[in-house]
Amino acid sequence: MTRWLGLAVLSLALAWPVQATPQERVEQVRYHMGTLWTVEAQGQGASEAMEAAFAEIGRLDRLLSTYKHDSELSRVNREGSRGWVGVSAETRELVSRALAVASASGGAFDPTLGPLVKLWGFKHMDYRFPSEAAIADAKRQVGYGHVQVDAARGIRFTKPGLEVELGAIAKGYAVDRAVSILRARGMTMARVDAGGNQGVWGQPPEKEGWVFGIRHPRVDGGVLGWTTLRAGGISTSGDAERGFWKDGVRYGHVIDPRTGWPSQGVVSVTVLAPDAETADALSTALYVLGPEAGKSLLGRYPGVEALWVTSELETRRSPGFPWLAADPGPRVKLGE
Ligand code: FAD
Ligand code: MG
Repeated sequence: MTRWLGLAVLSLALAWPVQATPQERVEQVRYHMGTLWTVEAQGQGASEAMEAAFAEIGRLDRLLSTYKHDSELSRVNREGSRGWVGVSAETRELVSRALAVASASGGAFDPTLGPLVKLWGFKHMDYRFPSEAAIADAKRQVGYGHVQVDAARGIRFTKPGLEVELGAIAKGYAVDRAVSILRARGMTMARVDAGGNQGVWGQPPEKEGWVFGIRHPRVDGGVLGWTTLRAGGISTSGDAERGFWKDGVRYGHVIDPRTGWPSQGVVSVTVLAPDAETADALSTALYVLGPEAGKSLLGRYPGVEALWVTSELETRRSPGFPWLAADPGPRVKLGE
């Protein structure tokens, strides 16, 4: 019996590695795509994995930025009105997916709004209040229906002056790419945060699931409540970061393509989705659509949940959105 016990202990000992594998944990913040990115990972070789994730984010910034003259997307925007522009499969497929969200949302999401985004000063944060004539002019230069994508020939525009701008979807895509690199390198836990767009995977340190505080859109440092996510993406679109006040009204950087004006009625939308790209694109689309019209869009995306904060600072959420409200505290008046 003692001999059997000895053997059992020995075979158990052999089942474990002779040396414990070091579980390195890293977290760093770097600047890409006009915002701060946090990459957090745990596992063997976490530092190298994190470097690979940041390298991928940098690569996608150089590929998809409309702030960089030499990116592939900037070349498409310069040449697309003159004919087909050959592009990488990656750019072509992301543009196709952006157009699919545009179509599913009835045009609430539109990746060709660049002229309006620039007119209101949201691109370079030099905000201004344009005239109705200037808005009408800019509206004539937009329309996702004028973008054609072809597997063999690339991308072209059927309207002069059209541009594609992926500001509402590409950060989510880059988050997914970074998370998949961390997973492929065997990390037991990964979190990539691109200022409002996050992707998570694995078990968070010392917790059972990932918990996210939803920022109060009108109180600096305030939290409206908390939500949870096992794995996938979470994205918030709001007017708090890029936007300006005029006569007590907040004008944020999400434009309603129907009016050409900054979308009103909602001040923030948080979306939980199986991936960060879907969360990013839908948070923008659902911001424009609002909680009522947004419900039918949500019905087309299984596993996606949303929380809206209306301009009256009331929360509305889809039935499956996990939510724990914080103490409401004193009511905050808009414009303060
Ligand atoms: P989201 O709600 O996801 O997107 C809002 C943005 O999408 C708006 O700013 C506008 O550009 C566009 N948009 C507005 N309305 C709509 C609509 N109805 N449908 C679709 N799109 C709409 N910023 C800099 O200041 N400097 C940079 O160098 C820079 N580089 C970037 C490079 C890349 C590859 C990307 C993707 C973005 C870059 N940005 C840069 C943009 C910046 O980070 C934006 O603030 C960001 O993309 C907006 O994302 P969001 O998640 O805050 O809001
Ligand atoms: Mg978005």
